[in-house]
Amino acid sequence: MIRISHLSKVYPGGVTALRDISLEVRPGEVISVIGPSGCGKSTLVRCIEGLEAPSAGTIETGSSRLGMVFQQFNVFPHLSVLDNVTLGPVKLRGIPREEAEQRGMELLRTVGLAEKARRMPDSLSGGQKQRVGIARCLSMDPDVLLFDEPTSALDQTMKTEVFGVISELAKQGMTMVIVTHELEFARKVSTRVLFMHDGEICEEGTPEQVFDHPQKTLTQIFIRNRRSLIFQVDSREYDLYKFNADIEWFCQRNHLGKKYFTLELITEELLTHFLPFSGPIHFRIYLNDEKKLAMEIEQESCSSPIVDSPEADEISLMILQGLCASIRERQEGASRFLDIVVNDVYNQD
Ligand code: ADP
Repeated sequence: MIRISHLSKVYPGGVTALRDISLEVRPGEVISVIGPSGCGKSTLVRCIEGLEAPSAGTIETGSSRLGMVFQQFNVFPHLSVLDNVTLGPVKLRGIPREEAEQRGMELLRTVGLAEKARRMPDSLSGGQKQRVGIARCLSMDPDVLLFDEPTSALDQTMKTEVFGVISELAKQGMTMVIVTHELEFARKVSTRVLFMHDGEICEEGTPEQVFDHPQKTLTQIFIRNRRSLIFQVDSREYDLYKFNADIEWFCQRNHLGKKYFTLELITEELLTHFLPFSGPIHFRIYLNDEKKLAMEIEQESCSSPIVDSPEADEISLMILQGLCASIRERQEGASRFLDIVVNDVYNQD
């Protein structure tokens, strides 16, 4: 449906956003495009949609009609929900209003918003607006739908609503290219995943291949880091509120309920009583292979024991040991590492 050959894009000013991309999109494929910010994902779909002109290479779409859903909902605020969905068909495709309204109501049913047909977009939530945006795209009968981070402006519940609609479209066989940061969603919905890095497609494959058995080091690092919470502490004046908020968000994203509480206690205990601040401290919080909440702490420029230290205060040590199922220390180069598995006992909701 789409054939891209040797596509490159250099923006005025000299940023190279895409380097020699070749890609085919076949009927019924659901392709997720993942990768770090700035790697060119958005530029790729914008080039496909024709919003950006390629600097080199070609994009053939044949007779395919394309529709694009943006991060910022593409709804007209001055038109009712139904009028948003009938505008294109009536004005651009010359379809009689009555017919367009009938089809519009069908599309609103598809996205779960038939009840809101007469409402103005202002009265809708972000998730509902995004679903109207999707219905609006569908009203032009596209053969391929392109999504540019459709849920990044939404909170968790609203994300789920929009994912629900996209999954339903996937089931119906809609061909889609989806730029997303939501790896779990990408895994569930995609037939193929592209991992981009620095303007190139670094690795591609089925969700199982890319997420569970990535071949390239860059992909492995990206997947590992996306599943982790990384936080760096440079001094005793670190931003405690930001760290705790990140921990809570990580636990929420991973459906870990109230487990953030134990994590917060452990990090505070370590930062207050154990870590020597001999250099930057790196925290990586993740789920280990047994799906237990775990943490790796790297204290730079340190070669003496941290928790095993003879000077460790006995009460603090007891508290820490109670909060952790296990604590291991190791030395790697000039850094001291702590590997901690969080104790589940305190983690019941
Ligand atoms: P992603 O979607 O992966 O975050 P983008 O495609 O938005 O990446 O951006 C790729 C690169 O191109 C980045 O370095 C970005 O700063 C640059 N870029 C994006 N849009 C423009 C633009 N309109 N003008 C100049 N540079 C741009």
